[in-house]
Amino acid sequence: MDQQKAWKVREEVCETAKKMSNTGLTAGTWGNISGRIDEEYMVVTPSGMNYEKMTPDQMAIVNMETLEWVGPHKPSIEVPLHRKIYLSRPEIGGIVHTHSQAALTVACARKEIPAISEDQVQILGGSIRCSAYVKAGSQELADSVEKALEGRMGALMANHGAVALGRNVDEALTAAVLVEKTARIYLDVQAIGGAVRIPEEDCAYYHKFFLERYRRLDDDRAGKGGRK
Ligand SMILES: [Zn+2]
Repeated sequence: MDQQKAWKVREEVCETAKKMSNTGLTAGTWGNISGRIDEEYMVVTPSGMNYEKMTPDQMAIVNMETLEWVGPHKPSIEVPLHRKIYLSRPEIGGIVHTHSQAALTVACARKEIPAISEDQVQILGGSIRCSAYVKAGSQELADSVEKALEGRMGALMANHGAVALGRNVDEALTAAVLVEKTARIYLDVQAIGGAVRIPEEDCAYYHKFFLERYRRLDDDRAGKGGRK
């Protein structure tokens, strides 16, 4: 494991956890965040700890093969969920799990949020599906959420909350904000007759545009040039 990268990811996960708490996406110690170090290791926030007081050295480093972990505190019970996503989606570098209010409201009704706003489809890839209801922390939950996430960067978890993905931890937080915002719009739009969906082909176009635009920005930052 690259120790420098491991430290950088611990800092990113800790900083994003504080931001998540400040944006009101979660209350108390609910929710959890992770970041990928490489194909074998991930960093996960500790279980039941106040986000405001968290420091990077308190983050747990988890081996995705053996589930052995190192750190001063036990990682979140949702380790199987984070592990499942990293193993099946090699492009994913960060995951944010919240119990944010509007997303949880829709998740309690176990409904899929259709593709209704352009920022939603751009970042999340289309509709926001809802996983089946299974116990928190279980492998069955991880399997069901991974299925709901197919081709998407966000999903609802029945009667539980939401999960959002990104190519890095910061992008995953943006996706989590979008899941919550879209759920709020979905709830509000019912009052004026319900939303009109964006066509499927437009969803694919917008999401591709987002992924390519930000890949170009990353390439530029890394001095690789890239298309202008
Ligand atoms: Zn949870």
